Amino acid sequence: MLITMIVLKNLIDGDWREGDSIFASTNPSNLDEIVAQCVSGSADQVMESIAAAKTAFAEWSHSSILLRHDILMRVASELREREVELGRLVSCEQGKTLREATAEVVRAAQIFEFFAGECLRIQGEKLASVRPGVEVDITREALGVIGLITPWNIPIAIPAWKIAPALAYGNCIVFKPAELVSATAWHLVDIICRAGVPQGVLNLVMGSGKVIGSAMARSPDIDGISFTGSTTTGRTIATNCAEHGTKLQMEMGGKNPLVVLADADMDLALDCAIDSAFFATGQRCTAASRLIVEDAIHDYFVQALIERMKAIKIGHALDPATDIGPVVSEGQLEQNLRYIDIGQGEGATLAFGGSRIEGTTRGYFMQPALFSSASNGMRICQEEIFGPVAAVTRVADYDEALQVANDTQFGLSAGICTRNLACAMHFRRNVAAGIVAVNLPTAGADFHVPFGGRKASSLGPREQGRSAIEFYTTTKTSYLRC
Ligand code: ADP
Repeated sequence: MLITMIVLKNLIDGDWREGDSIFASTNPSNLDEIVAQCVSGSADQVMESIAAAKTAFAEWSHSSILLRHDILMRVASELREREVELGRLVSCEQGKTLREATAEVVRAAQIFEFFAGECLRIQGEKLASVRPGVEVDITREALGVIGLITPWNIPIAIPAWKIAPALAYGNCIVFKPAELVSATAWHLVDIICRAGVPQGVLNLVMGSGKVIGSAMARSPDIDGISFTGSTTTGRTIATNCAEHGTKLQMEMGGKNPLVVLADADMDLALDCAIDSAFFATGQRCTAASRLIVEDAIHDYFVQALIERMKAIKIGHALDPATDIGPVVSEGQLEQNLRYIDIGQGEGATLAFGGSRIEGTTRGYFMQPALFSSASNGMRICQEEIFGPVAAVTRVADYDEALQVANDTQFGLSAGICTRNLACAMHFRRNVAAGIVAVNLPTAGADFHVPFGGRKASSLGPREQGRSAIEFYTTTKTSYLRC
C-alpha cells in the first residue's frame, strides 16, 4: 500500500526539494484518513524550475528519438506493473471507485505507449518552391519549456496526456498538479524520473494555483501552457499569458447535452444517461448534465431513470460493491448542494436525490440528483456544476432537441440516442461540440484520437492523438538553394 506519511517533495533540477510549507490530502471516502503529505512550493521554486528546464532544453530537444521512446516505454511498463497499487492511491486520494481508478492508471500507460510510438514518427514535409532551384522543407521542433497545470478529477491520465507528448517531442516541463491529488502526481513524476529523464527536463512544483500556477502563467520564460480545469481559471491564466504571448492549450468547462429521441433503444439510452451523468461522481468535463428528452417518451424515461438511480450504490470508493464514490471535497460538495437549491428556486422539480448521505465511513457522499421540468435557460442548465447532478428538459422533436443542445456557451461533448440514421448523421454534423457520441455515453474518450471542444470549453490546439504535435511543437520552414 502506497499510503505513507513520508512528506512528498518537489522535483527541481533533478533534486527532491523541501517547500515553504506542508499540506495533507485526505481520503474523500474517509475523512479520518490522511492519504499523503506534500510540500507546497513557492514562486521562487517555479522560477528555479523554469531556469532548470531552459538549461536542460538545449540537449533534450536534440536527444535521440530512441532514447525518448525507451523512457516513455519504461514509464508505461511501470504503470502497468503497479496498476493495482496506483489505482488504490488514485481511488483513496480522488474518490473514484477502484474500478474507475485502475482503468485510469491503465489509460495513463496506454498514453505513454502511444507517444513512445509517436517519437519515432515525427514527420516533416518537403515541397518544391515557387522559385526555381529552391527547395522548401517544413520541419517540427520542440516548443521549449512547457507549463502543465492539471485538475483533480483525472489525476493520473490528464498529467499523462500532457507529459507524454511534451517529452516525446523534446520539450522540458514544469508541472503543477491540483493540490487535492498531489500524491498521485508525485508518484507519476517519480516513475518518469526513474525511467531516465535527464536532470531539469521534468520539474514538479506542488502547491496552490494562486501561487504556483499564477507564477507559471505570468512567467515570460515559459513557451507554452497546457491547462485543464474550470473556464474561470482558464481565462485568468489566458489573460496572464497574453502579456507575454505564451502559447496556450486550454481544456475547460462543459455543459454537455445527451439527446434521447423517442425511437431510441430505451435500455441503451438509460445506460448512456446513467454513465454520462453520474459515473465518476459526475466529475468529468465530458459528463452529460443536460438530458434533452423527446416529449413522446419523456415521462417514461424520467421514471425509468429514477428507478435505475435508486439502484445505484454510493459508498466508499474501495468497496467493490460501490458504483459511485464520494464527491472529491467539501467545497465541491457544497457547490453541488448549492445548485440543488438554485434549481429548485428556479422552478425545476427535484425528481430524485440531491442530498448528502451517510456512509459507513465519514465521507463526502451525495445521492446523485435528477431535476425534471428544467428549461434550458435555467442556471442548472447553463452553468457547470461538476457533480452528480443532471437536469431533464422536455422537447417536442429532434429539431428542438438540436437547438437546445447547442444553446450553451460550452461545446465539449454531445450525445444522441436514436435509431434514426438521418437524425444521428444530422446531429453529428450540426451539434457545436468537439466530441460527438451516437448511442454512447458522452464521456469515455479513446486515447489515440483528438480530444477537445469548442466555444468556452477549449482554446488552442487539441490534446491527445496525433493532434498533440500541434501544441508541443513549432514548425520551421527552411528554403534551400541547391
Ligand atoms: P478546480 O479547483 O475545480 O480543480 P480550477 O480550474 O480552479 O478547478 O483548477 C485547475 C488547476 O488550476 C489546479 O491545478 C489549480 O491549482 C490551478 N489554478 C487555480 N487557480 C489558478 C490561477 N489563478 N493561476 C494558475 N493556475 C491556477
